[in-house]
Amino acid sequence: MCQRCPCGCRAWSGFEVSSTSLGGVAQAPLHIRMHGADNVAIVANAGGLPAGTVFADGLVLRERVPQGHKVALVDVPQGAIVRRYNVPIGTALKAIAAGSWVSEALLQMPDACSLVDLPLATQVAPVQPALDSYTFEGYRNADGTVGTRNILAITTTVQCVAGVVDFAVQRIKAELLPKYPNVDDVVGLEHSYGCGVAIDAPDAIIPIRTLRNISLNPNFGGEVMVVSLGCEKLQPERLLPPGSFAIQKVAALATSEMAVGQLSINSAAAPLARAEETPLDVVCLQAQAHVGFMSMIASIMQAADQHLVRLNARRRTTVPASALVVGVQCGGSDAFSGVTANPAVGFCTDLLVRAGATVMFSETTEVRDGIAQLTARASSPAVAQAMVREMDWYDRYLAKGHADRSANTTPGNKKGGLSNIVEKAMGSIVKSGSAAISGVLSPGESLRDKGIAGGLVYAATPASDFICGTLQLAAGMNLHVFTTGRGTPYGLAAVPVIKVATRTDLAQRWHDLMDVNAGRIADGEATIEQVGWELFHLMLDVASGRKKTWAEHWKLHNALVLFNPAPIT
Ligand code: CA
Repeated sequence: MCQRCPCGCRAWSGFEVSSTSLGGVAQAPLHIRMHGADNVAIVANAGGLPAGTVFADGLVLRERVPQGHKVALVDVPQGAIVRRYNVPIGTALKAIAAGSWVSEALLQMPDACSLVDLPLATQVAPVQPALDSYTFEGYRNADGTVGTRNILAITTTVQCVAGVVDFAVQRIKAELLPKYPNVDDVVGLEHSYGCGVAIDAPDAIIPIRTLRNISLNPNFGGEVMVVSLGCEKLQPERLLPPGSFAIQKVAALATSEMAVGQLSINSAAAPLARAEETPLDVVCLQAQAHVGFMSMIASIMQAADQHLVRLNARRRTTVPASALVVGVQCGGSDAFSGVTANPAVGFCTDLLVRAGATVMFSETTEVRDGIAQLTARASSPAVAQAMVREMDWYDRYLAKGHADRSANTTPGNKKGGLSNIVEKAMGSIVKSGSAAISGVLSPGESLRDKGIAGGLVYAATPASDFICGTLQLAAGMNLHVFTTGRGTPYGLAAVPVIKVATRTDLAQRWHDLMDVNAGRIADGEATIEQVGWELFHLMLDVASGRKKTWAEHWKLHNALVLFNPAPIT
């Protein structure tokens, strides 16, 4: 059993378990130490362990320790550093005897590390051998992007129209969709933005470009249609100015005409002029032509019908795995997140990067405490400095609200054994694997606009599950991987979400919500590498539509939640 050392040394180091013969015997007392220099380990057994428990290494519990919580491996004097992942996660507020429960109340959290004088591109991982034989079946777009699902999206400019769009979407699903068997779904892109906001404030660019870029997500095939109220601040032409949707707009027109090998961002240049002549397709509810609610619904359905015809002509073709754009994030984390699920995702991240795919990791408050190891891993000083800029922006954003990164942790995180944001961050960063970080996106930016295709990218987002997912959609994600320890039914309507459980107990209780059980790693029944490869193959199956995730099966999805740091009026 091994994993990449989370301390930033980039080595794949063994983590130690107190017993090595646990296969399927969850009852044997087990603690897991992440690094040889750690003076704490976590109790792995479901339900925790009682006082008097003797581990295989001779350690005796002095008190009951819940599952996922830390036990002191040695006597820790008052004021000494408590170390997990070979990183200081706090100092002891009083002396802690070996075998004691190291609870949150015993730890003083370290201050956030300075953003000055960080190592810039000093530990760039060498490029690993390419994995170029893997493919999936996807929907090619003319701009080079590839969809994993074929969905009609109805963009909205303002929350006021949400009810009408909901009504229309239900009618479209019932009356039109059966005529178009190649179209998977119809989704209203509803949100809380669009009016009552300081739309000219500098930070308003974030929600506006987020919504614009979501409309251009590869799964929507360039078939942009908009429902507007009429009087709102976010006018359709401000959301999608002429030209902004043209490259995507040609996608559906060109897909059937162009050979697979011809497709690239540059190849879209020729049909661009033709597309620019096509005006944005907008249904305005306040238009004089609308007399009564049903006339609005009829207009939306008529517009939708035309887009459905073109979407229905799309076909899956074999594309290289490099066309995957994967967003990874975690939510409802526990102490096992950084032991099982996130390391397996990190291993899979490395596989994807080797296959030429794009992988985004995010969640600024959950990487802030690991910034030094991330700037060291950046492919160039410029990329490292871009990461620092994002951290600095977010520090100032939090400070405006008189908060800092410690506001991140939830009661569930703490109940699951995570004492503070430093410990949580070390487990979260592991999702990014070991590859060089080759690009950075600001919130709401898209990979397309930045000219990024392939590699490991830091897409700056809040850690909030639904806001992070929304921003990764805007970046151009076509597949989402989500790890959870406490459990969440999280899903997105626009892309498949593969959920990975950190513990077997959760995977068994939520057997029809969790797609992968990484808890087998802590049980001694699978290695990080095995679960990482399993996830990799599952991703190709899900991307191809051969398998559906549980969230898709039950049609579970969260709302789009735009990140709006600008004032509300
Ligand atoms: Ca999250």
